[in-house]
Amino acid sequence: MKNLLDYTLEELMLWMKENGESSFRAKQVISWIYKGVKDFNGMKNIPKSLTQKLEENFKIELPKIEEIYKSEIDGTEKFLLEFSDGNLIESVLMRYKHGNSICISTQVGCRMGCKFCASTIEGRVRNLTSGEILSEIIVVQDYIGERISNVVLMGSGEPLDNYDNVIKFLEVVSAEYGLNIGQRHITLSTCGIVPKIYELADKDFSVTLAISLHAFSDEKRKEIMPIANKYNIEEVLTSCRYFIEKTNRRVTFEYALVKGINDTKEDAKALSKLLKGMLCHVNLIPINEIKESSYKRSSKESIKDFSDILKSLGIEVTVRREMGSDINAACGQLRRSYIDTQKIGGE
Ligand code: SAH
Repeated sequence: MKNLLDYTLEELMLWMKENGESSFRAKQVISWIYKGVKDFNGMKNIPKSLTQKLEENFKIELPKIEEIYKSEIDGTEKFLLEFSDGNLIESVLMRYKHGNSICISTQVGCRMGCKFCASTIEGRVRNLTSGEILSEIIVVQDYIGERISNVVLMGSGEPLDNYDNVIKFLEVVSAEYGLNIGQRHITLSTCGIVPKIYELADKDFSVTLAISLHAFSDEKRKEIMPIANKYNIEEVLTSCRYFIEKTNRRVTFEYALVKGINDTKEDAKALSKLLKGMLCHVNLIPINEIKESSYKRSSKESIKDFSDILKSLGIEVTVRREMGSDINAACGQLRRSYIDTQKIGGE
């Protein structure tokens, strides 16, 4: 049985054709699904014979909500979701005045190995399919009974290490027949897999590209991000310039501040010099400390100094508002702590 959520409209049209049905039925079926109808019998304008065929070939697979943790500080809700193979992932819902925003995962685990990140500790378990990524939004939307208008691909996993599924996801999530979330309201965050940044730029999607930079020099970056051994900063920035040229969209550079590692005034000055003149914006992230790593969060003063220096040197900067710090809301933390407690429970 195939998961219908893994199909684009074109793919479903092809299936209809191959199965002796008119291809316009694809549009009808897919529209029902994204309107929330999950039972083929509830699709009013579909003939019985087709309903039967659909039932024989497809399922609409949604993950189960295993746990929900709600932050007492800011109302951020973290959903621990379980797929039918038992794998767990997490999605975080943030409510803002301008609408609901969700941070979603693209892989179970991650193999990028960033030193401060909890998602990568036991490597990558598997990629999520496009339908599974979509279903994170669907189940949370269903649960809260409200529309989600902003999506960030900043949960567990490296989106560009699961390129084909993520591209398909971007197509369906933004399609009118799909979840109809505008591409301008979607941010894809990557540790910087250069060839895939070029491929993404050529897609002409109007999504925002966010790069996890975290250091101004290759030497420093290599200390915290293994991917820096493969692509140097110059190559990453050149691919970003190409992305900007193609899409006319401002790129975001994420910079997680780690005490004594990358948070000095000299770091701030060197970072400003590096990014000067680029259509970009820096998002400073005070790191969430994880128990598996000795990295500590920068002090409030260093964060402020860092941000002030960037500003004074003409770089647009924001400090990421901390959301859900009391519920392990950083990338991969919840899944890890949940697996840990299960392990303890089982011993
Ligand atoms: N793999 C992608 C997307 C997932 S991580 C990427 O690397 O961009 C989303 C962002 O959270 C990245 O900038 C990542 O470096 C950052 N991050 C991961 N662990 C963190 C932690 N413990 N504290 C703060 N930021 C963290």
